[in-house]
Amino acid sequence: MVPLRIAAGLVIAGLAITSGLCGRPDMTSSAVQDSSTPAKSLFGQSAVLVLEREFSSDDISYLLLDARTGILLSSRWDDPAKPIPLGSLVKPFLALAYGETHESQFPSHICRGEASGCWQVHPHGKLNLVTAVSVSCNSYFRALAENLTGQQLIPIANRFALDPPDPTLSGPPLMGLGDRWPIAPIKMARAYVELYHRRDQPVVREILAGMRQAAHNGTGKGVGEALHHADALVKTGTAPCTHSHPAPGDGFVLAMVPANQPELLLLVRVHSVPGATAALTAGQMLHRLEE
Ligand SMILES: [Zn+2]
Repeated sequence: MVPLRIAAGLVIAGLAITSGLCGRPDMTSSAVQDSSTPAKSLFGQSAVLVLEREFSSDDISYLLLDARTGILLSSRWDDPAKPIPLGSLVKPFLALAYGETHESQFPSHICRGEASGCWQVHPHGKLNLVTAVSVSCNSYFRALAENLTGQQLIPIANRFALDPPDPTLSGPPLMGLGDRWPIAPIKMARAYVELYHRRDQPVVREILAGMRQAAHNGTGKGVGEALHHADALVKTGTAPCTHSHPAPGDGFVLAMVPANQPELLLLVRVHSVPGATAALTAGQMLHRLEE
């Protein structure tokens, strides 16, 4: 593994990053002033400027957090506290709810592609939790969601400070299909910080192994390739678009680097592309941050 180097020049103790975010209508000062976010950060202004300059397309939204503390370092997102559909980013939390109601015993499942309700036409074949997370197999997660209700997801949502689903929701919406379980992007980002904090729990360990595999040969391989195969933890998602100029869908990527003891967490949304394509953008952003 090639260790991800976070450039030394990027870490400037005590630098106030809020100044770097002012004066742009698309920047989210409300999130930066979020009560749990101190005004100062260890994150350097140079990195903020790199993201602002090079990833300024209206099609790209992002939240960059300190993966150890959940502190927001930089953001370009209209209202990250407003719940929106985040697609398959909820799958790990569905898996946790399934684990709690099934004594942590997960099925071995055979995906038959489109024929078994997967997003991929061709079968993923035989999957366990790790491989299902890495390829974000809808067929596998449909099987997990089949007999679960929103009510059973609520304890997990509370534990990870996610917006809870409607208790009467059941089936595919619980794995992020459609728009019936909207979650605030900033809450989702911090839920993954909490997920990593719980890395010693058996089910969490498998989910994180799946996210690591995703960066190598799963839906997040755009991140792994941009980082020259350095290890990263990645989950992708595709969800109905909520932009004012709607597209069929938006791609989401949650990436944490380095995979061992992540320092940065990046949540990216790219307008009108699938999650696996958005992973290319997230990879390019992380690659620039490590330089
Ligand atoms: Zn599949």
